[in-house]
Amino acid sequence: MTIAAISTPVYPGGLSVIRMSGEESLRIADNIFVGRTAPSSMSGYTCQYGKIVRQGRTLDDVILTVFRSPHSYTGEDTVEISCHGGVYLAREVLKLLIEQGAEPAPAGEFTKRAFLAGKLSLTQAEGVLDIISANGERELVSARAMREGNLSKNIHSVAEDMVKISGNLAAWSDYPDEDIPDADTSHLDGDLSEIINRLEEILSGYDKGKILRQGIDTAIVGRPNVGKSTLMNQLLGYRRSIVTESAGTTRDVIEESVRVGDFVLRLSDTAGIRDTVDPIECIGVDLATQKLENSELVLAVFDSSEELTDTDREILEKIKNKPHILLLNKSDLPEKLDEEYFSEEYILSVSANTGEGLEKLPEMIASLFKLGGSSDNAEIYINERQRSQVSKALGFVKNALAEYRSGITLDAVTVCLDEALNALLELTGERATEAVVNNLFERFCVGK
Ligand code: GDP
Repeated sequence: MTIAAISTPVYPGGLSVIRMSGEESLRIADNIFVGRTAPSSMSGYTCQYGKIVRQGRTLDDVILTVFRSPHSYTGEDTVEISCHGGVYLAREVLKLLIEQGAEPAPAGEFTKRAFLAGKLSLTQAEGVLDIISANGERELVSARAMREGNLSKNIHSVAEDMVKISGNLAAWSDYPDEDIPDADTSHLDGDLSEIINRLEEILSGYDKGKILRQGIDTAIVGRPNVGKSTLMNQLLGYRRSIVTESAGTTRDVIEESVRVGDFVLRLSDTAGIRDTVDPIECIGVDLATQKLENSELVLAVFDSSEELTDTDREILEKIKNKPHILLLNKSDLPEKLDEEYFSEEYILSVSANTGEGLEKLPEMIASLFKLGGSSDNAEIYINERQRSQVSKALGFVKNALAEYRSGITLDAVTVCLDEALNALLELTGERATEAVVNNLFERFCVGK
């Protein structure tokens, strides 16, 4: 079946691309395109200027590109038509292809065909999805690595090692009465432990990815007047909280999301943490303390133009077990704060007024959460489906190790390893059911 879809967003724009894939693509293109040569006589990876014609009338002038099987994204003959970016026009071109025998492509069908043609593993296809949804450099680097097969290769190499171990054990357990020398189990404990470490390493990419995809609940804390509202406004790029000269005026917890480099911080500007008798402020302070407890990251603000107060010390004490960054604010004023007091690794001198120093915040957050993700050494941020399969496999390998250590027969170890292997092969798609495959590709857009 030949499929066709509009692959660009259906909005007015510079260009629209209509993509068609399948055995009939070139024949259909011949019927609707008038150029110097017929598309069916074009070589792969070449394009040509011409007109799309319906019943003798020109619909648009376009560039038509031909990809020949198997050297195309789907592995099939593929034609891409770039026309002017009008919504009506793109739909008319698509309609024409359908009149000529193409079928409208369901969501993700092009990538699904690439998977079925063996051009991509399931995890590589998920990399394509991640490329489309990447919001920053780190997510993009991870998605590209996944698309290029780094995750599948990693999984394969773990799976191969499991097969080797199983093979060694199976020869022994399948024919226990034969004259086969006892299985060599001297390395088994070490080998299984190593596999466990490798799977745990892959799994750690899930929590790191979650930080990037879902953002970080962040509390800004500090005593009144150190510049919390000013900081928040600086990060947000506009005035949101009320900034005043008198202490204790920020009463509610105001929530906003702000992008800082690759990170989305879900900020809550809090009432200053301090002892207070004002009932309205008390409510604010309670909320602030609760927010602090629930937050994943604390930005603790201090006024570097004043000496450290008892409240500052209390705040330092309160946050010591939370991931935190200390911001020594008002760096534009003469310094009075004794920096010697702070022996912390994560500390930044900033001016919330001018924004100076805040440019270092993204790298500091990355280092606090141990995110590498440079393009030389891409970290792979696995998704929920991948996490679930890897952790299933990990559970089985852990069982295998426990069985071995408890001295039960080696059969039990082999059974656990087989289960673990199944989980990994379902992950890469080699043993995935049709339902798993369909479910995955439904998350794609039409035309991808
Ligand atoms: P909050 O009570 O912690 O929210 O503090 P505010 O944001 O309301 O700021 C208190 C005062 O400090 C205001 O007058 C701000 O203009 C001032 N302020 C905040 N940040 C800076 C800074 O970086 N430099 C200077 N010179 N003043 C600042």
